Amino acid sequence: MSQLEENLVNVRSSITEAAQKSGRRPDDVRLVAVSKTMGAEKVAEVLRSGQTLFGENKVQEAREKIPLVGGDAEWHMIGRLQKNKAKYIPGLFTTVHSVDSFELAEALNLAMANALERGKGLKSEILHILIQVNIAMEESKGGATETELINLIKKISILSHLKIKGLMIIPPYSENTEETRAYFKKLRQLRDKIAVMKLPNVDMEELSMGMSHDFEVAIEEGATLVRVGSAIFGERNTA
Ligand SMILES: *Cc1c(COP(=O)(O)O)cnc(C)c1O
Repeated sequence: MSQLEENLVNVRSSITEAAQKSGRRPDDVRLVAVSKTMGAEKVAEVLRSGQTLFGENKVQEAREKIPLVGGDAEWHMIGRLQKNKAKYIPGLFTTVHSVDSFELAEALNLAMANALERGKGLKSEILHILIQVNIAMEESKGGATETELINLIKKISILSHLKIKGLMIIPPYSENTEETRAYFKKLRQLRDKIAVMKLPNVDMEELSMGMSHDFEVAIEEGATLVRVGSAIFGERNTA
């Protein structure tokens, strides 16, 4: 087995274990293999090992890489997205995890409308989005604040080419996973609170939370999408 395959097997079994430990079905947790900075060859190897869902955080990098990887991969945009890059999303990505403003949602909706009008062979007429929440109100990170969240969701929910599927968080980094757990728990409570409101055109199924160092805890707290990079691909060259 190659190192990449071995890593993938290990991450998958940790996901299964964490799900079972908390009385959840392993199938209810999807692994997003975060391939940012990794070359297309490496990503294609992981795809051949049976991992079909990938995450990228930069539009330009994804535009170059996705055609090179080819195959039957599904791609999620997980990074901060500028409005002027929204036009590149349809056709490349099925889901955007990082929507945090009405203006960005509007730009994505318009991009979808334009792509559909051009008959751009989209697999789906609807772009799935998650609302990123910045519970700790960190300046350096994107995300809607808790106070604005419900109004933002209500406003976005009327956009016809988007479907809100849930919430996403990147909690403050901490070595102490119990500190991180509190953020995961809080995101789940917010999700549940919004779910009972039964807003039209809003699904609250998904909780995108957990990365290489804390995805087990995130699964214990209800994650349905875990975004795991370095535990699969190895350390990134951040130079
Ligand atoms: C890079 C990144 C990840 C994955 O991080 P790892 O620690 O390598 O697992 C997850 N989510 C987002 C938003 C990222 O940018």
